[in-house]
Amino acid sequence: MLKVLTCLTTEHDLRLVLVAGLICLAACFTAFRLYSRMRGATGVVRAAWLLLTGLVSGSGVWATHFIAMVAYSPGLKTGYNPAGTLISLIIAVLFMAGGFAVASAERSRTNDCAGGLILGVGVAAMHYTGMSAFVTQGFVQWEQATVAVSVLAGVAGAAAALALAGRARSLIKQAAGGAVLTIGVCALHFIGMGAITIVPDPAIQVPAELLSGGVLTLAVTSITAMIVLGGLGAVAIESQTSRSALDRIRRLANAAYEGIVVVQNGRINDANAAFCDLAGAELETLVGAPLFAGMLTFDDEGPAHEGVRREGALQPVDGGRRIPIEVFSRLMDDGARQETSGLTVLAVRDLRERRLAEEKIRYLAEHDGLTGLPNRNSLQMRLAAALDRVEASGESLALICIDLDHFKEVNDLHGHLAGDALLVETARRLQDALTAPSFAARLGGDEFIVVQVADGDQPTAAAELAGQLIDALSAPASHEGQDLIMGASLGVSLFPDDGRTAEALLANADMALYRAKEGGRGAYRFFKREMDETIRERRTLARELRQAILDEELLVYYQPLATASDGQVCGFEALVRWNHPVRGMVPPLEFIPVAEENGLIGQLGEWVLRRACADAASWERPLRIAVNLSPLQLNQPNLPALVHEVLVASGLSPKRLELEITESALFKDYQRALDNLRRLKALGVRIAMDDFGTGFSSLSTLQSFPFDKIKIDKSFVENIHRHDRATVIVRAVLGLGRSLEIPCVAEGVETQEQIDFLRGEDCAELQGYAIGRPAPVDTLSAWTLASQAAIQEPPRATKRRQGRDAA
Ligand code: C2E
Ligand code: CA
Ligand code: CA
Repeated sequence: MLKVLTCLTTEHDLRLVLVAGLICLAACFTAFRLYSRMRGATGVVRAAWLLLTGLVSGSGVWATHFIAMVAYSPGLKTGYNPAGTLISLIIAVLFMAGGFAVASAERSRTNDCAGGLILGVGVAAMHYTGMSAFVTQGFVQWEQATVAVSVLAGVAGAAAALALAGRARSLIKQAAGGAVLTIGVCALHFIGMGAITIVPDPAIQVPAELLSGGVLTLAVTSITAMIVLGGLGAVAIESQTSRSALDRIRRLANAAYEGIVVVQNGRINDANAAFCDLAGAELETLVGAPLFAGMLTFDDEGPAHEGVRREGALQPVDGGRRIPIEVFSRLMDDGARQETSGLTVLAVRDLRERRLAEEKIRYLAEHDGLTGLPNRNSLQMRLAAALDRVEASGESLALICIDLDHFKEVNDLHGHLAGDALLVETARRLQDALTAPSFAARLGGDEFIVVQVADGDQPTAAAELAGQLIDALSAPASHEGQDLIMGASLGVSLFPDDGRTAEALLANADMALYRAKEGGRGAYRFFKREMDETIRERRTLARELRQAILDEELLVYYQPLATASDGQVCGFEALVRWNHPVRGMVPPLEFIPVAEENGLIGQLGEWVLRRACADAASWERPLRIAVNLSPLQLNQPNLPALVHEVLVASGLSPKRLELEITESALFKDYQRALDNLRRLKALGVRIAMDDFGTGFSSLSTLQSFPFDKIKIDKSFVENIHRHDRATVIVRAVLGLGRSLEIPCVAEGVETQEQIDFLRGEDCAELQGYAIGRPAPVDTLSAWTLASQAAIQEPPRATKRRQGRDAA
């Protein structure tokens, strides 16, 4: 120790030692400044900062060593080997950069220490490499122990410096770190100098080309000072740029629609205009206020995670209502700068509008848009809740299915607006008749549901309510000055007798409703076990029929019509058949009503029409083809367009097509039916009145429209000569036809007797088993081929035959 002190005081130029120390301090402080910038950066910028840190600290430390060496004068001639000196500079820069790189790789004590170790070793390596380039007139003797102490001192100083200022943000700490590093470097140097003894040897020459002190000291000092200044300048420029970047960010933030608030250690540091609006205060009031102490609360507990969306509420400072918000947070701490310590940016989104929209959507999803009643979706939920309730409370529950009796008529007669008004009025009356927890829902169309939750005994309570509902729904409603007929049919199922689940109750109430409608409408029916079977059967049939239409299980059979006078076949009636894979041939009287109930008749009728027209168009003789129209079809506004399209598509002449309608078809919607008939007739198509005698058989029907044919129902024909009444009726109808100049056809002609009678009464055409049974199209060639036309004889049938169609 003493030797070191002696060496320092007696063998060194102290002024130069001071210069060396100052250079070292400046370089080390600057290195820590640069190092802090490097920690806050990434990628290329980080590498550049690291290079600069290594360059500043390395060259600084090296300059310290060099100047201190120049300050050393052992009283002999000295010089420096340029190669060795240069290598020592390179070593210094590399080790410094390496040390700082390791220290910054991770924020841990271990990294700080490891980095410090590398720095210390680097300083030692630089020093002793530099020493080996030192040439003097004598032998240099080394004291091993002191060398070791010097290295330890250097390593300890460097490690302490990194431990102290490795993560420092403040200038003071960085300066302190620089000072400690400087002490380490100087300690290493001067202890190291104390470890040598020079034994002069005049025989040793110091070569002239070696570097020598003097001028070089000045050069080294100024170059190093410039490097250090450069480093400091870089830090200053960077600070300025990041400050202006911050300004730009603030301007951008103010333009943002979302609230942005910067928080440091829980207190508001800055906020944009949108946040100030939300919080209801000026920025000046907000800055410094604690954000999380009541002002902003989160719905979920737990620590805030970076970048995770959290919902909560913001309590405005001015005492307004709490605002639902959504928050994204991002930590802005770069781990290096004082200004960013603990800095978090929160983006705060006002959720009020979204919440309102969500509420609206939920309402729309659960309610029927027209009537405002709960819809099918929410019926399921409400019914389930009601079932839970009555199961627990012991109250009774009844489910009532409601179907309006005249909805379609109102729609057809008065238009959709009137139909809508009817539905709205129905909903209002239902709600008026109910008290919570009973409720009404709309399933769609004109179907409503009432769920009754009552204390009273069942079925009394349900019967009472059903009666009230029927009364409530039967008074006419008025819409734009006109009276709309109301009226409804109800089906009731009871919990738990008719079902324990929502599905069972709904299905059974629906069945009861079906029966109520069948039984004449305007009434209610309770579900009964027996209803199950027949209705299920019909449902199955409907389902199968829907598929059958697609699978082409349907066929068209043709039954001939003959001119009564000569027995010549003059046309055919198309009669649909269903060849069911399991049930066999299903008679049309069974499935046509099913098709009508289930909305399949349009499709079915169209299919028959197309088939029949196409078949008829392929016949050689221009025979007429008659196609039956269901009442529902006749009321379809697009019927004339459809018929026209089918005629065009098949190429069949319109005058060969005859459409058969029944009287009842006219009563559904008289005006529309007549309108359709007129338009059909305008196409050139013939219209026949089918089954005449079975309906109202009113003269006015026949007068209201110029029918081309009257078909006398077979129930009268089969009773000719058996019941006087039937004979009288047939005669009367034939007379009526004559007076109106409408030709008549007798249906169901089976015997020669009937043929003779009808001929005698001037009936125009005959149809029935006596002429021919309905048969598939490929069996008709006897009648349809041109060459066969002449040889037809009136068929002679004497025996009344019942039964199947021809195969
Ligand atoms: P409809 O229009 O009165 O057809 C005549 C019905 O009488 C046919 O019954 C036919 O097979 C049957 N028939 C014909 N000659 C005789 C006879 O001499 N004696 C007896 N006992 N019956 C005879 P089908 O084919 O069972 O049709 C029944 C009803 O189904 C038809 O009565 C018609 O109203 C309806 N229908 C048939 N095909 C269609 C169709 O394509 N569309 C529509 N909408 N209805 C159809
Ligand atoms: Ca017919
Ligand atoms: Ca008929």
